Amino acid sequence: MNAAMTGRMAIKARQIPPGSAFAAEVAAGELVQIIDVRGQQVADFIAFNSQDQAEFLSTGVTRSANSAIMLQQGMKLFSNRRNPMFELIEDTVGRHDILYACCDARRYADDFGLEDHANCRGALTEALRGYGISHDQIPDPINWFMNVGMKQRGELELREPLSERNDFVTLLALMDTLVAVSACPQDQTATNGFNPTDILVRVYRTPPEPESSDQDQIDVMDNPDEIALDAVEA
Ligand SMILES: [Zn+2]
Repeated sequence: MNAAMTGRMAIKARQIPPGSAFAAEVAAGELVQIIDVRGQQVADFIAFNSQDQAEFLSTGVTRSANSAIMLQQGMKLFSNRRNPMFELIEDTVGRHDILYACCDARRYADDFGLEDHANCRGALTEALRGYGISHDQIPDPINWFMNVGMKQRGELELREPLSERNDFVTLLALMDTLVAVSACPQDQTATNGFNPTDILVRVYRTPPEPESSDQDQIDVMDNPDEIALDAVEA
């Protein structure tokens, strides 16, 4: 599919329908790929240090450390402790949001009069239930593929995503993490083009070190003392 995937094997994969989420542990050196299967679909993404859940991916620190309100390929994503957690190594869209909170039950009830609407905060909480992370501990997400326009005096406008079928981002984990991704079920605004669809998440293992059956022989040849010893014994 692309250069970063060469020699790598997907160890986890999950297609997520709108309104649900997937959580997975991703070790340092592994890759997380988030794919917009049909296009114009937002994926809310949160992450924790898997060794210490008090450390989490912070959109605030990520904005500060990059001096930017939008992400670009090559940028690092930072924790609330200013440690780099991920690097955005591939991005086929170039337009994502790091300003908006994830949608929750109150958003649909207060703004659209819809009770019990599926929502990202609920889905992320459900996916993380087994890891001891509660509803109120869900940090503000990175909203992959979400297209937020900014007007002259800072007013924000929800626009249809620029992502098309099979567009994706790939993140390199820089620490051992627990990640969760939801497919946003927002169907009342342009956020998902008024038509929420699936998100696909894949985790790729670090490629194994190349094996060499001649390793011992090479070591001997590279070591003059060993060669000398062999010569004496012969
Ligand atoms: Zn949402």
